[in-house]
Amino acid sequence: MSSFHSIVSRRDFMKALGLAGAGVGTTAAVAPVFRDLDEVISTSAESDYANPWWVKEVDQPTTEIDWNILQRFQKGSYNNFTAHLTTEEVKAIQAKTKQEAIARMTSSSKPGQTLRDNAIKVGGWAGVWYRMTQPNLTKDLVEGWDTVPTPEMLGVPKWQGTPEEGSNMITQALRFFGASSVSFAEINENTRKMIWAQMPQGTYPDITFEEAPKPSFNSASNKVIIPDTGIYAVVHTVRQSLDTSSRVGYLSDGAAGQAYDNCDIAQWRLQAFLKVLGYFSVSQNIQGNGPIVGWGVMSGLGEQGRLAHLITPGWGPMIRQSTMNIVNLPVAPKKPIDFGARKFCITCKKCADLCPSGALSKETKLTWDIVQAYDSVKPNLFNNPGLNNWPLDHFKCNRYWNESDTYCGVCQAVCVFSKDDASSVHEIVKATLAKTTMLNSFFVNMDKGFGYGLKPEDTIEEWWTNSFPVNGIHYDNDAYYN
Ligand code: SF4
Ligand code: SF4
Repeated sequence: MSSFHSIVSRRDFMKALGLAGAGVGTTAAVAPVFRDLDEVISTSAESDYANPWWVKEVDQPTTEIDWNILQRFQKGSYNNFTAHLTTEEVKAIQAKTKQEAIARMTSSSKPGQTLRDNAIKVGGWAGVWYRMTQPNLTKDLVEGWDTVPTPEMLGVPKWQGTPEEGSNMITQALRFFGASSVSFAEINENTRKMIWAQMPQGTYPDITFEEAPKPSFNSASNKVIIPDTGIYAVVHTVRQSLDTSSRVGYLSDGAAGQAYDNCDIAQWRLQAFLKVLGYFSVSQNIQGNGPIVGWGVMSGLGEQGRLAHLITPGWGPMIRQSTMNIVNLPVAPKKPIDFGARKFCITCKKCADLCPSGALSKETKLTWDIVQAYDSVKPNLFNNPGLNNWPLDHFKCNRYWNESDTYCGVCQAVCVFSKDDASSVHEIVKATLAKTTMLNSFFVNMDKGFGYGLKPEDTIEEWWTNSFPVNGIHYDNDAYYN
């Protein structure tokens, strides 16, 4: 891990904060941060698979949830584009977009949207797209691959252990399978409402909880049955390349696709791993078993940000995605966390200011309302009531995707928490804002002043000649796991 000293000295940092020479007052509010910066960094580095000291476990998530209002979302009806426009409007948008994309790729006129950039996008996504079209996908996701042996087939008893041993074993396995962070959540009367009412694919079978020994998919009744008791949520993320995501266009799309694919591969591996041990894992396509951000929040992997994405302490929202698998191997659930991210979003509106479609709320105040209906847009098809939130207008976002021929991702790339260098001054900033909101405005301005965010258009294509680490990710700067 690189040293804090090689990047900025304590004195410089204090100066940058305007706190050099400050006495009790402000510095006292963030005392642990400024008492010994080296200790801060080493504390983070030594806590294997644990959050840094400035991340607090809390009983209630920082996203306020009204469990009486929240209901299982009718995922089979989810629609963020075609249901809000006429068929003619949809066709017209898609035809125009296609024509413009062909012109750009033919002339290589737009950095980030050339033919070879598009090839990176398709390469990043190809595995996900392929798996999503497999005829047996629903059965495989629910019941596992037939080719994977069970303990009975191997002639051995199933694995047994305590919930803590189960958690440790799954964390170790998932890390080996490619996960960046791993956690666990209880599936109880409340959190069960965070499991989709239908599978988000194919024939959209209903998901029901019943007394049953194992999960199953019945194609005749179009129903997925999940055992009612003894189930737990395993949640994991994988990191996404910030450098590539900051090059808006097809390159950024490729980074998202590659990370989705890595996340998806890790869950298939987990499922096979558990089947060999004698347990099941109900997996899902990239839309998850339920709201992915919600499961990231409930398992303590991060907080929900204004951008409607999970903000993790380590890498901000530069991850895909808090994938949740329903397993029956007993694990020890964790609590939600608070490191000041959601409070920071109250002041910071950077993602909303830079969102090209206006899909992100710029309101300071949170609301229990979902996006209000307008024109022919029906927000109940994409928002689920029950959260005190900055609701995301999925239609505006997706319309922009359809018009630009990209998956955008600007909000994720520009987020103040999306920084690669976990051992630098950014760690100190995060430790500070976890302790006090007093400096939040200053940090927002500092981020803007340093010009963090998207790569300038004339440098996007330098991606093809720059050397970069595997997956475009600086794993060596991973303060929490090195
Ligand atoms: S992906 Fe783009 S359009 Fe969608 S919310 Fe983020 S910034 Fe806005
Ligand atoms: S850019 Fe700012 S407001 Fe948006 S999610 Fe990140 S911290 Fe929150």
